[in-house]
Formats: sequence, structure tokens, C-alpha cells
Amino acid sequence: MTFPPLRDELRGIEPYGAPQLDVPVCLNTNENPYGPSEACADDVAAAVREAAAGLNRYPDREHVALRTALADYLSRDTPHGIGVEQVWAANGSNEIMLQLLQAFGGPGRTAVSFAPTYSMYPEYARDTHTRWVAGRRDADFGLDLDAARALIEAERPHVVLLPSPNNPTGTALEPAAITALCELVGDDGLVVVDEAYGEFRREGTTSALELLPAHRNLVVTRTMSKAFAAAGLRLGYLAADPAICDAIRVVRLPYHLSSVTQAAALAALGHAPELLGYVDTLRAERDATVEWLRAQGLQVADSDANFVLFGTFADRHAVWQAVLDRGVLIRETGPDGWLRVSIGTPEEMTEFRDALVAAMKEQA
Ligand SMILES: *Cc1c(COP(=O)(O)O)cnc(C)c1O
Repeated sequence: MTFPPLRDELRGIEPYGAPQLDVPVCLNTNENPYGPSEACADDVAAAVREAAAGLNRYPDREHVALRTALADYLSRDTPHGIGVEQVWAANGSNEIMLQLLQAFGGPGRTAVSFAPTYSMYPEYARDTHTRWVAGRRDADFGLDLDAARALIEAERPHVVLLPSPNNPTGTALEPAAITALCELVGDDGLVVVDEAYGEFRREGTTSALELLPAHRNLVVTRTMSKAFAAAGLRLGYLAADPAICDAIRVVRLPYHLSSVTQAAALAALGHAPELLGYVDTLRAERDATVEWLRAQGLQVADSDANFVLFGTFADRHAVWQAVLDRGVLIRETGPDGWLRVSIGTPEEMTEFRDALVAAMKEQA
């Protein structure tokens, strides 16, 4: 036996993670470039100070105050409203995904997604001993409903994971596609629509939250990491049928959300209008970036998110490196030949454009 005595299937696996490099312009993890205001930081600090006085006690396991605030926040995106009993939160939407697979995946069960898709999903499937099956999206990165239907009929998945807007392509799903998948899967499984980038969707794109009353097997996940400019907070959440929240209570760690996290998230939520004020700025910058990349003769995926996938390059690693050499970190991800850039401030995007032009000249 070699030390440490690790499970066989975990041997030799590199821990997942985007490079965290100390460079002037970081456009690689879809963070919001605009941090919280002084007033927001002060409110978070005051809330944490208050929580600190009670740290001898375990936190509210049901995090009711926070769930109530999240339900109110989500209710702006659906005419049907969202109730506190439909909301569940955890340390990032990544923990939400893990909890969903702990409860609804597992040995003998199957999770399905459609590639290109979020690269973390297969890891949660592995960690929960859930069989992982990846279908394909079509050439435009949309969902080919006939192919999806065939895959679901063949595999009978217990969990279907659909990022919308999709990471790494930025593609949002049509409500009709989500409805079709919910009906197809039926009561045998869950359809999880990961709306980590939901707030960045373009005008006229509806949130899957609107479909919740029609489908009790639908789960919509959100996060405070992206539009909400609080990636460091680690707060993700879902909206679903209350029975699904009850099932998660069985697998969650006791007191999984610390008093400090709950207090900080609640205080930050009080600043929602200000934190979200930058969303329109970022959407405009995104649309301008798409246009500019197309004007360079590149292929660019339509984006409803705060990042853009573009290509294709014969040697994308060389382009990524040449851009990095100029102080701009983007992401080498997605299908072969494509690169992804997160939307930053106008100054950062100027740096990106200059670096990319120089890198492309170098490669020509
Ligand atoms: C960034 C991202 C998340 C957010 O994860 P957190 O754990 O909430 O920070 C979730 N899903 C997708 C597809 C993402 O790209």
C-alpha cells in the first residue's frame, strides 16, 4: 500500500482550480471587478462584530433570517414570488450542488449534463459516487432538444445539471427547453438549473424561477459570488419545492453555515441595489467586448453572462500565455481552441484588448 492510503480512484488526481496568479489584470474566474462600497463593508463589519459576541453558541441551523432575505431578493425575478420554505443556502453554490448530489445522486444513480458544461460537476459526481454522463450541446452551444431527449430516455438520470447562462459558453436556455426536460425526467429525477450568472442575462431572457410553480422537480441555484460581488463570502442558495429543501436537511453538515457567514451575507443583501448597480455596466461592457472580438474576425459565442468565450486558435495555450506575458490572466477552458475572458472594468478590458492584439500578431 502506498501512503497516504487514498481511495484508488482518487490517486494521481490534481486538485481542481483556476490558477491564482499575482498579475495586474485578473479576468479568469468571472468575479465582479467592482468590490463592495465603504458603506457596505462597514455594515458587514458591524454585523460580524455583533455575531462575534455570540460565537460561543452554534448558529441558527435553519438560517431563517438569511433565507427570508434571499426569498425576498429572488421574488423580484418571478411574478409567482418565492417563499422562505422554498429556499436553502450553503457555503457557495458549489456546496449546494454537492448537497443535491449527496441527497439525490449516489451509488447506482446517474447525473447528466451537456458539454461544454461547468467543469466542477463531474468532480461532485465522483465524490458522491454518482455515475456521470455528459451529452453534447449543438455547434452554437445551445441544447439540441432531440439529442437531449434521447440521452435522458436512455440514461434515466436522477439529476440533470444545466447551467443557464452556461459556463463556459455564456449561453442561456429557453424556458421551453427547461420545461421539456422537467416533463421528460418526471418524478424520477431533478432538473437543476444553475443560474450563477442569472443576473447578467440579456433583456427578454426569463429566469427559470418563473417555472417553479409548474414543475416540482425543478431546482434553481444562485450565488452571491458573481453579480453580487461577494465571491469571498462563500454563499450560494437554491429555490425549489419545500420537499427538496427537507431532503437536503438530511445530508447537510450540522450548522454548515457559520454565524459569521450568515451575518455578513444578510448585511451584504441589504446593499443589493448598490451591488447590482454594476450589473448594467458589466452587461454593456460584455456586449461591447463581443462586438470587438467579432470585429477582429474571431468566433464569439453569444453571452448572457459576465464572460465571453472566443476563438478559435490553432494553439490556444500559446495565445493564453502571450496574453499572460502582458499581465492579463484569462482562462484556458471550453472546447479545443477557445478561450474565455471575464468582463472587468473598462481599463482592464483595454489592457485585455491590447494584450490580445499583440498576442495574435505574435502567433500569426
Ligand atoms: C462561478 C460558478 C458558480 C458559483 O460557485 P460558488 O460556489 O457559488 O462560488 C456556480 N456555478 C457555475 C456554473 C459557476 O460558473
